[in-house]
Amino acid sequence: MSCNKETCGCDGGGGSTPNPPQTDSPVTAYIQSAKKKEHSGPEKKKNLFSRAVSWFIKTVIADMRITRVRIVSQTFFFCLFLFFVIITDLRYLKGYPVSLFLELDPLVGFATSLTTGTIYKSLILGLVLLIPTLVLGRFFCNWICPYGTLHQFTRFLFGSRDEQWNIDANRFRHLQQLKYVLLVAMLVAALFGSLQIGLLDPICLFHRSMSTAILPGINLLLPDSFYIKQYFHVGAWLVGFILFFFVGMNVIIPRFFCRAVCPLGAFLGFLSRFSLWRIERDPNTCIDCDACLKNCQGASDPHTQLRKSECFVCFECIDDCPVDAISFSFMPNKAHEVSGPPLPGRRAAMGALFGMAGYAVARGSGDSDSNFNKKVIRPPGSVHEDGFLERCIKCDQCIRVCPTNVLQPTLMEAGLEGFWTPILNMKIGYCELNCTLCGQVCPTGAIQRISIEEKNGRGEFAEQGPVRIGTAFYDHGRCLPWTMETPCVVCEEVCPTSPKAIYSREVTIKKRDGNMITLRRPYVDPSLCIGCGICEHECPVKDHAAIRVTAIGETRSDERRLLMDGGDTSTLLDLVKRKR
Ligand code: SF4
Ligand code: SF4
Repeated sequence: MSCNKETCGCDGGGGSTPNPPQTDSPVTAYIQSAKKKEHSGPEKKKNLFSRAVSWFIKTVIADMRITRVRIVSQTFFFCLFLFFVIITDLRYLKGYPVSLFLELDPLVGFATSLTTGTIYKSLILGLVLLIPTLVLGRFFCNWICPYGTLHQFTRFLFGSRDEQWNIDANRFRHLQQLKYVLLVAMLVAALFGSLQIGLLDPICLFHRSMSTAILPGINLLLPDSFYIKQYFHVGAWLVGFILFFFVGMNVIIPRFFCRAVCPLGAFLGFLSRFSLWRIERDPNTCIDCDACLKNCQGASDPHTQLRKSECFVCFECIDDCPVDAISFSFMPNKAHEVSGPPLPGRRAAMGALFGMAGYAVARGSGDSDSNFNKKVIRPPGSVHEDGFLERCIKCDQCIRVCPTNVLQPTLMEAGLEGFWTPILNMKIGYCELNCTLCGQVCPTGAIQRISIEEKNGRGEFAEQGPVRIGTAFYDHGRCLPWTMETPCVVCEEVCPTSPKAIYSREVTIKKRDGNMITLRRPYVDPSLCIGCGICEHECPVKDHAAIRVTAIGETRSDERRLLMDGGDTSTLLDLVKRKR
């Protein structure tokens, strides 16, 4: 019996090979005609471009899963972060928003508003990021955060391939409570006025690692790749060690830093308990295979009750579930999840006590007023020391951009509280007269944006005078013309102020061998010295220069003032009386 050709789709002769079913869909018709063309001999090689486009559509777009979109997003933000770090350089800066990631960081905005009682304008952006967190949860951790991407990539490169190991490694651990304790401690310290979130905040930490350890390290291996001259940073080994420690820990515990240490993750975790869209597992469909744990980034237990505050919204569980039991749902059943962060009251109290004790120890370890350290010379435009410590997040953006390498991270010079904040080290560099770059990139206003005119007390700022960051003093015992019968005018020559703050007087003396010699002995005029340090930097007595700058005389502090306005020391008496 012959069949009806139109409906059956065979050749009508009762043969065994059916034709493909006919449909009316124009898309199907197009695909079939495209296939025919593909198999039609020379046509096949005809259009390489259209074949590439069709391959891209078939293999990339048509198969585009949400996890791939996420990888694109992570790659984009990671590259953008690196781009901004690299162009934080005198040669390329050109007004790019190089502090964007720091400004986007809501913990930076929140903690600095606790310490200062104000919201610095550029940090409002970070508070805006909280809105999508309230809708989608901790998406920042796995879609934007460049430090998180670094950890995920490291894990991908060096992690175990054994499936069961991965499943076990991605279960929730109590160690994950640690980040909440650290966050509470840091916020309590911030309430008292001590800003320490920069020690562990991932964006600050990554910026600091890149600026003080990674880029100078790469430049050592590939000279001139990032710097015109090789940069060195005091304590860079420690910053590098911490980076490699956290990155290395991924081999043992995937995303160790993000899960257990990150205070920003904890901050977003607190907020994500209110998120509207969440991962939801349908227990009726679930076959309890635990496959959703294979690549779970947050260790948030999607296989049982999802821990909302731990979920990074990476969507790996949705991809890995073989029976589609997991979905991203709007306000799912609360019985299927654990809403709050895993922080019992006792641990929270422990964090608060730790924060108070930490504050007391840190503040007590350095007195910024009566016992200030003469080496704590802050960049020009810095606010008063107390305000500086309330604002500085130790991101080292200023250190990265400084063209002379004079800015260095402190170790203990400014006490524990000021650890890793920037100071000037004139042995390594000096403050360039016509530069205000550090203030331009500081995201928190610890170093204020000032113009060159303001820095040098020119134009409309002539009356208030130049910004002084310290004062230079001679150590006559080491000065060549003063002690060693040797002519030298280096310091006077390099002094950049006009008129020069260093001047000299001619003296003729009898040398030890009886011959006479005329020397120019240098002096400092403290009313003109701005503390730029070029004299100390250029002094030929390299081990411990014969002229050295200290923090006395800096504009930002009344307590450290050397001369009153106009250089009249007698008015100092008024200041002393006022303080009594
Ligand atoms: S103003 Fe001075 S300290 Fe600041 S970046 Fe320029 S040279 Fe460095
Ligand atoms: S002073 Fe430097 S390290 Fe501190 S917040 Fe500003 S740019 Fe960052």
